[in-house]
Order: sequence, then C-alpha cells, then structure tokens
Amino acid sequence: MIQVGAGMQTESQAISAAEAMQLEDRFGAHNYHPLPVVIARGDGPFLYDTEGRQYFDFLSAYSAANQGHCHPHIIDAFVAQARTLTLTSRAMYNNRLGEAEKFICGFFGYDKTLMMNSGAEANETALKLARKWAYKVKGTAEDKAVVLCAENNFHGRTLAMVSASSDPDARNHYGPFLPGWQQIPFNNLAALEQALQADPNICAYLFEPIQGEAGILIPDEGYLAGVRALCTKYNVLMMADEIQSGAGRAGRMLACDHENVRPDVLILGKALSGGTMPVSAVLASDEVMLTIRPGEHGSTYGGNPLASAVAIASLEVLRDEDLAGNSERMGVIFRERMQELQTRLPFIAAVRGRGLMNAVVIQPMSNGKTAWDVCIALMENGLLAKPTHGDTIRFSPPLVITEEQMLNACDIIEDTLSSFITA
Ligand code: PLP
Repeated sequence: MIQVGAGMQTESQAISAAEAMQLEDRFGAHNYHPLPVVIARGDGPFLYDTEGRQYFDFLSAYSAANQGHCHPHIIDAFVAQARTLTLTSRAMYNNRLGEAEKFICGFFGYDKTLMMNSGAEANETALKLARKWAYKVKGTAEDKAVVLCAENNFHGRTLAMVSASSDPDARNHYGPFLPGWQQIPFNNLAALEQALQADPNICAYLFEPIQGEAGILIPDEGYLAGVRALCTKYNVLMMADEIQSGAGRAGRMLACDHENVRPDVLILGKALSGGTMPVSAVLASDEVMLTIRPGEHGSTYGGNPLASAVAIASLEVLRDEDLAGNSERMGVIFRERMQELQTRLPFIAAVRGRGLMNAVVIQPMSNGKTAWDVCIALMENGLLAKPTHGDTIRFSPPLVITEEQMLNACDIIEDTLSSFITA
C-alpha cells in the first residue's frame, strides 16, 4: 500500500509500476484506456519506464512532444522563467507576454495572437472570434451565425467542440448541444460550396488540414487551396485547427504550407510548448482579433509568463533544428518501409501520412487479433504507439528522431507485425 501524507515524496519515487496503475485506476476517472506501461522519464525520442526500460515514443503525447522529451533549450527557458515569474494574470502587464506575442506573430505571419492553454480552449476562442466577426464586421443578424465544420473532426472535449463532433463516443449523453454548427463532408469542395451558397449566415469553416483523431486522413491535392478560394469568394473565415498537424508534424511548419495556403485564423497548441505545459494560441488579423474587447474573453493562465517563455523556446527549436525538414525526410523513410511491409503482410490495409503524422491500418485478423494487440506487442518490443478509431495505428514520433533511430524503430515494427502472421 502507498502511504499518503508525510513522506509521500519518497514513497512516490519508489512506487512500482503495478502500484502506479492501481492508484490511477482507484483514484482517477476512467476516461482513458492507457497502454499498460508506467513512464518515469523522457529524453528526446525515448521514454523510460519505472524499471528503466527504454521505448521509442511513437505517440509524442498526441504530437505535443514534437521537439523531443525534455529538450534542453526548452527546459532551460522553463526553469529560468519558473524561478523568476510564473503568473500575473492579464489583470496587469508582464514582461514576457508581449515579447512572445510578437515572436509568434512574426513566426507565422499574423497581426495578432491570443494565447490560451489547451487546444480545446483555443478552438473555443476561434469560434467566439468567428461569431463576433460575423456580427460586428460581416453584418450577420444577431444569434444567426453558423460555423461549418467537417464530419469526423476532432477539435477537443469542451461542449462547444463536442457539439461539432460526429463521434458518438465524444457526444453520447452529453446533450443538449450548442447550436450554430453545420457539418459537411471533409475533403469535398463541392459540398463546401453548396453549403456556402445555401446559407449567407455561415461565417467560418473550422477544420483540420489533416484529420488526426479520425485516423490521419489527408485531403486530396488542391483541397486546401480550394477551401482558401471558396472562403475568400463567400467572405467566410478559413479557420485551420493545426493543433496536431502544425509545428512541423506534417513535414512543413504548418500542414497548410503544403499548398502555400494561409488561413484567416490559425489555431495552435500541443507542441507550442514542446510537451512541457498547456499552451495554445489563436492567430488572426487585426480585423478579426480586435472584435473582442476588454472583458469579453480571457483565461487566468492564458499568456502567462512561463507559457510565453516556453512558447518562444519551443518555436526556436522547431526553426533552428529544421524539425519540419527532418519530419519530411523521416516520414518518407517510415512510409517506404511500411509500404514494403504491406506487400508482405495482408492484414495491413493501408499506410498513409505526411511528414511524421502517419497511420497504418490493421484489418481484423483471422486469429481475432486487433490493432490494440499489435500495440501491446509493440510495447513489449520497445515501441509505444496507440490505435485511433479501432483499427488505425498512429505513428508519430518526436521530430528529433534521427535516421538511425528511425531505422531501428522500423525494425521493431517490422519484427512485431511479422510475428502476427504466424501467431
Ligand atoms: N484539435 C486537434 C486537431 C487535436 O488533435 C486536439 C487534441 O488531440 C485538440 C484540438 C484538443 O487539444 P487539447 O487536448 O489540448 O484540448
């Protein structure tokens, strides 16, 4: 039994894997289905369990740890700022926020940014901005604004974002939902134009340039440029949720960069802090951002000095280590290996991805084994990955992974998957 209270620090350091799992199970909500491994340390592309066993991390905390675990530049910035000033709230100025806002705006080419904490909060902020812009700039009648979203989207777990979702697991028994959303099929420009033509109250289209949780769904060539053109034509805001696909993950700094497209509203999170703490940001023009006035939106922790310091350091690492370029190169190596494997293993139904945002789809096997069983076997062989939507395994290592490490990781995946053919 774990003793609580005095001496807890020492006790918790000595905690066994079984005890750690029991504690989460006993005292935590059962809202995740974690792999049965207890991680105690992270370094670059690796995680280590309580026994010191090393694993390739092919999840990267759902693409938050793009810069690798505990990147020294980010941790140095974090620790230095943590020792100096962590929180003032926005009730007063602090000496780091303006600097971070300027850096982020310059980095991505926008007039203004509004920093929040989680990805879902940033999407909520984007939704509020779209509605404010509709009423104050576009001239939409009050309470009539509609925001388009894509089927099978994932924009987070708040009720506004769940109201946009088509996933029963995300929605069931959470109603009533927020009105003002309209769903259209993803990757379908005709459907987008039809919707825009039909309803002048549509003020924005919020979508993921690559749908992550839906199973790494990549739109056809020309979709992003087509969305841009239609949003301009119908005077609606193109709002790109790049919380997962951005920050180098998809082989460019932003997934939208694949088609040289600039959204009106850019939403970032996750790797904006290199996996250290929740930091998100919405970027937009003055016209959009200045529709929100003092007192109309905010967050106690949003834009705090610690987040500001960490965001700058995290973006510096992406830029200075050319992590988008490495993501592109390592992604090619990964998909070539997996595609070759697919020719030999009939239960691999598909291999797809961009940069290091990849998926391998596992068909149900005749012996009843599933993608989850594959992930358990991968874990036993030293690589951590998780299925998303049943049969799709997401492979998204930190972008700092070297070619040698990638080849080693591919060997593990190849050996593991091959073992299922005879299993
Ligand atoms: N948007 C996208 C595209 C995401 O992938 C996620 C998280 O997986 C979110 C939003 C929600 O981010 P958070 O979990 O930080 O609220």
